[in-house]
Amino acid sequence: MNKAKRAAAAAMKTAATAAVAFAVLGPSAKAADCPRPDALGTARTLTIDAAKYPRIGTKSFPETLPLEDHEVVLTFDDGPAATTPKVLKALADECVKATFFLVGKPALEMPALVRRIAAEGHTVGHHTWTHAHLAHLSQADALAEIDRGIAADESMLRGHGAPLSETKFFRFPYFESTPALLDNLQSRGIVVWGADLWASDWNLMTPEEQLKLISDRLTVARKGIILFHDPRAQTAAMIPAFLRFLRENHYRVVHVVPPPAGNPAVATGAHATR
Ligand SMILES: [Zn+2]
Repeated sequence: MNKAKRAAAAAMKTAATAAVAFAVLGPSAKAADCPRPDALGTARTLTIDAAKYPRIGTKSFPETLPLEDHEVVLTFDDGPAATTPKVLKALADECVKATFFLVGKPALEMPALVRRIAAEGHTVGHHTWTHAHLAHLSQADALAEIDRGIAADESMLRGHGAPLSETKFFRFPYFESTPALLDNLQSRGIVVWGADLWASDWNLMTPEEQLKLISDRLTVARKGIILFHDPRAQTAAMIPAFLRFLRENHYRVVHVVPPPAGNPAVATGAHATR
């Protein structure tokens, strides 16, 4: 084995060790690990891949995640942003894990924040390079937007020294998909996320109004994938109260993750992801 090969082998071994450590310590962190025994916590981790769940979220698709009554999945789109740390703090205070669908350009501009999201055990999904209206672009341009966004997110995560995490979760900006793009993503083993409940936090409202709107919607729906936007100040401000609402009303948070490293369902070079 020459020097270069030895170095490559050593790097792979380090990555594999890190991947195992992440798999053990990361997504499966139990409520018992939470410093506050009365925190909301993360009830369970659900591993999904595109083979079984190519498209999820009843706002856009016929299928969604197999959630039980009173189970919710928290998702945050369009970050990273200046308000993201406030959301991360609220989640950490309650030992709750979420999924962040990042836009590539701000991800490149805020690498520390991207790494912090992953380091705190949240799942990172992708949300294009510039949050373009993909249905208005040519297929080639739309795929370029998708792939440039994924590359930006991944390069920020790799810089962290973590194993290459090609998280195969994607959400269309404005939920504007096309059949051809959906087919393309499915062929690449990428899960396309919609949502079951919208916080509608693109509409300007006070944090109190925001809390009432989403808690009322959840009370009716009783479960589901909830869509928030961490760059929205009204959302960042209301998340602590929303997590209290979940706890007081006996909701349980489900953390969704891609399959671990080496799973054939995520072949083509995918590694353990966060
Ligand atoms: Zn978006």
